Amino acid sequence: MTIQWFPGHMAKARREVTEQLKMVDVVFELVDARIPLSSRNPMIDDIVKQKPRVVILNKKDMSKQSETDKWMQYFKNQGFYPVQIDSKHGKHLGELMKAAQAATKEKFDREKSKGLRPRAIRAMIVGIPNVGKSTLINKLAKKSIAKTGNTPGVTKKQQWIKVGKELELLDTPGILWPKFEDQTIGKKLSLTGAIKDSIVHLDEVAIYGLNFLIDNDPEKLKQFYQIELNEEDEVVDLFDQIGRRRGMLKRGNEIDYESVTELIIRDLRNAKIGNYCFDIYEEMKDGLYETKEH
Ligand code: GDP
Repeated sequence: MTIQWFPGHMAKARREVTEQLKMVDVVFELVDARIPLSSRNPMIDDIVKQKPRVVILNKKDMSKQSETDKWMQYFKNQGFYPVQIDSKHGKHLGELMKAAQAATKEKFDREKSKGLRPRAIRAMIVGIPNVGKSTLINKLAKKSIAKTGNTPGVTKKQQWIKVGKELELLDTPGILWPKFEDQTIGKKLSLTGAIKDSIVHLDEVAIYGLNFLIDNDPEKLKQFYQIELNEEDEVVDLFDQIGRRRGMLKRGNEIDYESVTELIIRDLRNAKIGNYCFDIYEEMKDGLYETKEH
């Protein structure tokens, strides 16, 4: 899905989510486990405020487990209730239910002590485009409800989806904008398919991806594309090698760089080469608390 975010859209999205938040006990903040920080909305803490929050690291099947675990701990330390799931295949949804209960326990205990009758937990999903909001809603609803690719600003009557006896979920997710102003984040968003190709320089995204592989998984890079990695090689030499290996050539035996670029990006996006987390905790942890926007 593609949305062009303009200041007006952002303000409207924020207003809508703020309004919907009043109806729920807990927020499900959905992020992509391959970029648990870079796939967050920059103002999320400001928008959600003190409402209990379950941070859902989705697409765990495509990320690197050891990194996902570190980010889980990070979110826990922040006072959130993190879970890691795979919405596409409906995995670990039980843990999501448990986290929702833990996050709302205090409120429900309070209601109980006041003599209020037990009721279902009310929740809504928020997140940037393409993190899997609709997929998760449909899995929880056990049928197709949220149209994948719904647009912000399209008002329709909100409905509650019953998920077992204990949870009620708003059928429309809150769609918020990503942090696309930052160049590195923009490349990571592109590598995970969160933003459309026309708003980034694809060659820079592919170069970023190749450098990531050189630094983090050089053996796999060599093996996957059947190429050599020499000390003196520049990234462009790798494009040449991959192009030749795959027969991506233009007239006059010149490398078809556009096709090689698309290939690298596609292979990374679809986790063909391996499962990677592009937000590396050890590299980002020092800046984490300073950059938190409140
Ligand atoms: P939304 O824009 O946040 O509603 O995202 P969608 O639900 O449309 O999902 C975007 C893409 O991610 C779709 O192609 C989904 O099939 C895919 N997707 C969603 N969740 C998962 C997951 O847990 N694992 C994998 N591998 N793919 C997922």
